[in-house]
Amino acid sequence: MTLRIPADLLPRDGRFGSGPSKVPAGRLDDLAASGASLMGTSHRQSPVKHLVRRVVTGLGDLFSLPDGYEVAIGNGGSAAFWDLATFALVERRSQHAVFGEFAGKFAAAARKAPWLGDPTVLSAEPGGLALPVAEADVDVYAWTHNETSTGVAAPVVRPQGATADQLVLIDATSAAGGLAVDLAHTDVYYFAPQKSFASDGGLWLATLSPAAVERAERIAASDRYVPAFFDLMGALRSTRLDQTYNTPSVATLFLMAEQLDWMLAEGGLDAMAARTSASAEHLYAWAEKSSYVAPFVPDPAHRSAVVATLELDASVDKTRVMEELRANGIVDLDAYRGIGTNQLRIAMYPAVDPADIEALTRCIDWVVERL
Ligand SMILES: *Cc1c(COP(=O)(O)O)cnc(C)c1O
Repeated sequence: MTLRIPADLLPRDGRFGSGPSKVPAGRLDDLAASGASLMGTSHRQSPVKHLVRRVVTGLGDLFSLPDGYEVAIGNGGSAAFWDLATFALVERRSQHAVFGEFAGKFAAAARKAPWLGDPTVLSAEPGGLALPVAEADVDVYAWTHNETSTGVAAPVVRPQGATADQLVLIDATSAAGGLAVDLAHTDVYYFAPQKSFASDGGLWLATLSPAAVERAERIAASDRYVPAFFDLMGALRSTRLDQTYNTPSVATLFLMAEQLDWMLAEGGLDAMAARTSASAEHLYAWAEKSSYVAPFVPDPAHRSAVVATLELDASVDKTRVMEELRANGIVDLDAYRGIGTNQLRIAMYPAVDPADIEALTRCIDWVVERL
């Protein structure tokens, strides 16, 4: 039996997936309206090069790029960037603060790389937070700004006592554009377009400090074998020329450039962080008050403003709740596999209207009351 949620309770847009995430209404029409001007034309000619430039300058404006920092773009998404980092950025050994699946995957890539020493891994249980600590013989500290699997957000602050020749690499795949950050605390802040940037997958994007570029240059000049696909200096040189090493998804670049324009017109990163905070405040307050659902992350200070994880009471059939919601156009509330026991996960990226988060909570209440 499918429940029919009253239309006046429904969100305007029912997409709350953590990735790929909602592409704002009308954006695909804008892409279609670009007609024959972009897609299907050479990425070595000015129309697509102009698109790459829009993304690079848009990111520079959004993040108030510190002096000397640069943007690099390449193919393969954030997962490819982990492998790239083991080749092109970690010199001898890295330290990883692991508090979820994504940080764990980068740590695993570093552990498996035979040319690197065994990484230090500091870990926390799902829902908790692990922080990096200064360590003498590592040359990279790595952690995630927002752990998309658990809904924990971490401070992005250079570890106290870290030396200038140790690089800070932040996986900001789901955080970038939705959480405030001071890039001066990072050497590499890398992400992908399909989360807070409301675009499609396939690319990685990274901001690089002068120290990160110097490290990448040194490793590139060494006798380490680096596959061309993981050549960070090559990617940076291409990006400087408004290109990518190999063919990018032009549609992904287009959707991202449009989202960047929207973010900047709305007031930039501060405005985006205020918007995701408004969604998060409502969602967590609702869950705290509810008799059948509670925030999964115990410490309110660790709860993410871009991805919320919620544990339902064991008496509530979460599969049924998600099916009923899906039948009413509210989709993708699934938890990351293996996290929590009866969990919903809700994205509150900038493209998600805080009013729709309020509507979502009304709809969940309405469905659970009727099961
Ligand atoms: C989604 C995600 C990734 C993987 O991104 P891909 O572009 O699919 O490779 C990595 N890290 C975090 C934190 C993510 O949320």
